[in-house]
Amino acid sequence: MVSERYDFLAGDGLPLRLTRYPGGTKGPVLLVHGAGVWSGMFMLPTLKENFVQYLVRHGYDTWLLDWRASVQLPLRQSSLDDAADHDMPAAVRRVREITGADSVQAVVHCAGSAAFFMSLAAGHLPDVRSVVASQVALHHDVPRATRFKSMLRVPELLDLGLDSLTPDEASNTPLFQLAFSKVSSFLRMECDSPVCHRLSFMYGRLYRHSSLNRETHARLEEQFGRCNLMTFRHLAQMARVGHAVRYDHGREGNLQRYGQARPPDYLDPAPFKRPITFISSEQNRTYLPTSTERTFAWLREANGARYYQRRILRDYGHLDTFMGCTASEDTYPVLRDALEFQPRAQ
Ligand SMILES: [Zn+2]
Repeated sequence: MVSERYDFLAGDGLPLRLTRYPGGTKGPVLLVHGAGVWSGMFMLPTLKENFVQYLVRHGYDTWLLDWRASVQLPLRQSSLDDAADHDMPAAVRRVREITGADSVQAVVHCAGSAAFFMSLAAGHLPDVRSVVASQVALHHDVPRATRFKSMLRVPELLDLGLDSLTPDEASNTPLFQLAFSKVSSFLRMECDSPVCHRLSFMYGRLYRHSSLNRETHARLEEQFGRCNLMTFRHLAQMARVGHAVRYDHGREGNLQRYGQARPPDYLDPAPFKRPITFISSEQNRTYLPTSTERTFAWLREANGARYYQRRILRDYGHLDTFMGCTASEDTYPVLRDALEFQPRAQ
């Protein structure tokens, strides 16, 4: 498939990347990946039809963003505030410059959605005309009992000299092994792939095994990589607080940076008066479906119902939403419908 690559700089000078798949006059639509992966999650070579191919077939000018949490970019300790302040606005600006479009649409997933919504809340993205939010937005509900939650308490590993977590062989440091062996006995292993086991340890259950085809499962290491621990730690903080807050630097650091003891939150509904579709997968064990339910309810309460809708993907988990072998029949049509969503008449 024809593609164009554009390297560009975030607002703070970090190198980022856009990859365009021109599919027609709809869009432009920006796809934003989660943490510890890269934009390849939308462009899997192991599917009969992946999400990018699907959008192109339906006439969308499709843009993949690799933001600072992409495993294809140099590792850098960053908070999601950095991505919200510097990556998302620069990416939207760049797409508009190249296409000449007045506005863009976005499909955003997991930590990429969290960062994108923080950017919207901060008022940085007035030229985004509609958003499809996959699995999480401004409210963060994670299962009490999963690895994800436990793992999220471990980012103190950062203080012990570990700067990243990765599911590949490079993760076999004594520290990772120590943490992994502490919890792995609680993990229910459904296969014999070490990469898959380490992913479950790092993120909780990311997909339902029955949804992935054999090739996708065998080539998981192509999609995942090193995730910096500051991003993990910020996600952990938000999971504990329950909603989007700026990075917690501790009392002294917060007083210095924010002029208050606790980090400010992002709960300002004013910038969200535009069509937004919240999508949760029913079987998601990384972010519970109540995550999007809460942001959806909060925005309807504040701004009225007309701008917002919410969809549940039955029988799907977190990542198989995009990586599932029958996603092109089950979930992509729902996502495409969401891109067409217009605010209801009052
Ligand atoms: Zn597996």
